Amino acid sequence: MKFYVSADMEGISGIMLPDQLLRGAPLYEEARHLLTMEVNAVTEALVEAGATQIIVKDAHGSGFNFIPELLHPAADYVMGATRVEQRFPGLDSSFEGAFLIGYHAMNGTREAVRDHTMTSQGWQSIQLNGRMIGEIGLDALIFGLCGVPVSLVSGDDKTCSEAEDELGDIVVYATKTATGRHSAIIKPPLRSRLELKDAVKQAVQHTAFCKPYSLPGPYELMMRFLHTEQADARRYDNVNAQRMDGLTAVYRSENLIDLLAAAF
Ligand SMILES: [Zn+2]
Repeated sequence: MKFYVSADMEGISGIMLPDQLLRGAPLYEEARHLLTMEVNAVTEALVEAGATQIIVKDAHGSGFNFIPELLHPAADYVMGATRVEQRFPGLDSSFEGAFLIGYHAMNGTREAVRDHTMTSQGWQSIQLNGRMIGEIGLDALIFGLCGVPVSLVSGDDKTCSEAEDELGDIVVYATKTATGRHSAIIKPPLRSRLELKDAVKQAVQHTAFCKPYSLPGPYELMMRFLHTEQADARRYDNVNAQRMDGLTAVYRSENLIDLLAAAF
């Protein structure tokens, strides 16, 4: 029984500030520790639930946030930068399910810790085939292309709501209740890790009832930027890449990965 885990940082218990999220920032080292220990709790629960192979991807920023020395020995870890064409190295259809751990809500979500979509600086919103989508939906679609369902999402309470809206009947676990972009009522990490372990075991049982997420093509992705210069910097062919107005570009493709590679 194989499971793939993608771990971001913003939704990890005890994390909510920019100073925790960037290499070199004052609280970054502590946040890495929080991330690593929460990821270890997930791995431990997967092992206890009978998983035979576990891959965990370090999915925040540069992809090098886990503290290697402290990582649970039972999993393998994807670290460093990945390309859209291979966002989850080692993933194939033999995986039973996937978990999104420490995720965050899409850009523009009210009272959500570090709400953003792909980049904090750049994009107001992304719509895929006319519907707003964040990283939860995009990553679930990429897992879905391999026939792998996402059965657990963790992060703040808004992350959990977005995951349920997008993916339906899955297991969610809230590490905190967000009260603003940089504030939350948190559960202490020591408690979160124990509760998350229970959620993992529940999700393993539930995975067989979850469907791989999919969206039929052809695809149209609309990006709304923050600044016109971001739209200026892109190339348009007026067929598969089109500038709609100062802040908006649309990308089109029959193939979802080609589309994401062109847009991101
Ligand atoms: Zn992140």
